Amino acid sequence: MKGFLGPLRRLGGIRGYSGTFKRSQLRLEGVKDVIAVASGKGGVGKSTTAVNLAVALAKNCQLKVGLLDADVYGPSVPMMMKIDRKPDITEDKKMIPIENYGVKCMSMGFLVEKDAPIVWRGPMVMSALAKMTRGVDWGNLDILVVDMPPGTGDAQLTMTQNLQLSGALIVSTPQDIALMDARRGANMFSKVDVPILGFVENMSFFKCPHCGEPSFIFGKEGTRNAAASMGYKLIGEIPLEVDIRKGSDEGVPVVISAPDSVISKAYGDTAQNVVSKLEELAKEQSLHPEINL
Ligand code: ADP
Repeated sequence: MKGFLGPLRRLGGIRGYSGTFKRSQLRLEGVKDVIAVASGKGGVGKSTTAVNLAVALAKNCQLKVGLLDADVYGPSVPMMMKIDRKPDITEDKKMIPIENYGVKCMSMGFLVEKDAPIVWRGPMVMSALAKMTRGVDWGNLDILVVDMPPGTGDAQLTMTQNLQLSGALIVSTPQDIALMDARRGANMFSKVDVPILGFVENMSFFKCPHCGEPSFIFGKEGTRNAAASMGYKLIGEIPLEVDIRKGSDEGVPVVISAPDSVISKAYGDTAQNVVSKLEELAKEQSLHPEINL
């Protein structure tokens, strides 16, 4: 592998592997923390987790929360957050995020027709992502949750570099094929010095509605073990539940429709763990401030 990467590195073609990418120092004005919700693979429940986490952070932790749907090719936030209109524009030409369930949202899905295919080349994606971050009047936020595009390509690296991320949350199902990509995702963030807040295992188990027995459809404890093998913690376990899927399709996140359910508690605990981890990181940073020469 080393021999194969070496020549490419010298040509500058895969600079990320040699760790030359550095986090941008550009903060989003008024936004205290920006966190990425990422997965190596699509379909593992990254957007569902990002949406319920954002709502739980606002509702349970009483924070001012924004949700940026950076999954430009397959934006889910308009449907999951039941938002069906275009954002208003300020005098200085910034888009005003649209609020629902106590969360300020921005998504490419607000700007394009519902079923229109998004067939953009790289530079157009980059420019769209730039508009959706700095071209938005976020106001004062405690935390901006970014629903990242799946994978570890150009768009992900650009987002990671252009937002000074406080940390990243890796979402995976417990099966090997998803975990392999989750590890890749986690490695991408550490290459660019973004701390990993922890892993979230989605679709952990399915509790039979008839006998109450849990079934581990995608395997047991896979995410916990994968996280531990990289020195990270599992900070959330979300079951496979019809109500979660229904909530996504109907545009009412389960933390809103069933706030006292076991599932909402799982999202609430995850939100609390994210806040604790961010506090821990802030403390560490104040003890060891970066020296910018
Ligand atoms: P991704 O963002 O990783 O592509 P999504 O969040 O869009 O994945 O989820 C993919 C599908 O799985 C959606 O239909 C969603 O409603 C469903 N889903 C996600 N998490 C769960 C869960 N814990 N239980 C049941 N269905 C889920």
